[in-house]
Amino acid sequence: MAGTRAQLRGALHPIETASVDEIRALQQSRLQTVLTRVYAQVPHYREAFTQAGVHPSELRELSDLARFPLTTKADLRRHYPFGMFAVPREEVVRVHASSGTTGKPTVVGYTQRDIDTWADLVARSIYACGGRPGDIVHIAYGYGLFTGGLGAHYGAERLGCTVVPMSGGQTEKQLQLITDFKPDVIMVTPSYMLTLLDACTRQGIDSRTLSPQVGIFGAEPWTDAMRQEIESRSAMDALDIFGLSEVMGPGVACECIESKDGPVIWEDHFYPEILDPITGAVLPDGELGELVLTSLTKEAFPVVRYRTRDLTRLLPPTSRSMRRIGKITGRSDDMLIIRGVNVFPTQIEEIVCATPGLAPHYLIFVDKDGHLDRVVVHVELREGSSTTARGSLAASVRARIKTLIGISAEVEVLDPQAIERVVQGKAVRVFDRRPKPPEKGVP
Ligand code: ADP
Repeated sequence: MAGTRAQLRGALHPIETASVDEIRALQQSRLQTVLTRVYAQVPHYREAFTQAGVHPSELRELSDLARFPLTTKADLRRHYPFGMFAVPREEVVRVHASSGTTGKPTVVGYTQRDIDTWADLVARSIYACGGRPGDIVHIAYGYGLFTGGLGAHYGAERLGCTVVPMSGGQTEKQLQLITDFKPDVIMVTPSYMLTLLDACTRQGIDSRTLSPQVGIFGAEPWTDAMRQEIESRSAMDALDIFGLSEVMGPGVACECIESKDGPVIWEDHFYPEILDPITGAVLPDGELGELVLTSLTKEAFPVVRYRTRDLTRLLPPTSRSMRRIGKITGRSDDMLIIRGVNVFPTQIEEIVCATPGLAPHYLIFVDKDGHLDRVVVHVELREGSSTTARGSLAASVRARIKTLIGISAEVEVLDPQAIERVVQGKAVRVFDRRPKPPEKGVP
């Protein structure tokens, strides 16, 4: 635990500590502006609003937003590539795209002002995590169409840091640069951080002597158990940064080092709602549901009530005046339905990480065995653990999956290092090989 960085608050943007009334007033005026703009500039929104029988002038208070139509990834795909832009294409200085593993990629665009806002918000996020001007920031998120690398890069520069734009992959080289340049901060997916920590062990480097005091992890779900795992093997405070390309990229929300209690949504730029994913009804703060975001300041690619498919809850403000989200349980489309029980990979992660003797790596295989779903979970012995413990470890994980999640799973305990490590992009831990997966929760 770094300790000292938690006390350094310095100058925050005034809105980060403003009163709730001030924040709500700002959101309302920005929301009116954005609804009016998309209605005038983006045919999709004009049609969708007209179909729903609403007009931007009808937003008199924030709760009126619930009357406006939701936007889905399918809407964005229908207007591929540039049909959702709210400015002439010539004013777009950059595009990014989501991975498109489930179809055509979603293309998003930024004006110069959008890029500036994004840099400001990532700078604000790094600061909230304890990064300071003058720090060396090692960026191991991928650079390219994925928003992670460039998003982190511009933000770290904006904060006044020295940026090492390493990108993903080349694990040995990453470690060499970390050892030689001694960065204060590392920004990377949590799964690749594990790969780096394992590489240290293999090379005989004590990972607790690595320089970074702050790790800023995002782009994929990760649990508090994983936070403990990373913190216990390093000198870092491990902080959670959240974002998605459709809404901006990393830095939509970020944890604060003082409290480490879930990412603060930067509510001056994004208006959050939580919906019941089945009925579409807006849920009160505190209830678990699907995060829906409306951009309040984006010029090129504003989104209105965008369904992120991420499941979480809105939590009251703590270290800042803005609301937080709980750690993301997963996307509704990551949810496995196993013999009628809803299962998120993060639930398995909690169990694996909490089992001494096991490394924090796991894979989940789902097959059909006749009419029944068959689940096999691969886990891995922690380096140095006795191989004779295999049987009892498997039994313990199986029993906890049964008790805590409510499904029967077979558990195979593999040798240390047997599970392939994440080297690029987001971790893929689930292999659902059933012939036709059942329809998931999102209508
Ligand atoms: P893609 O659709 O290709 O995955 P993005 O890179 O924009 O595109 O991914 C955004 C998604 O990544 C989010 O909707 C969320 O599911 C996941 N994500 C990003 N940050 C986090 C985080 N801190 N915790 C959990 N999930 C995250």
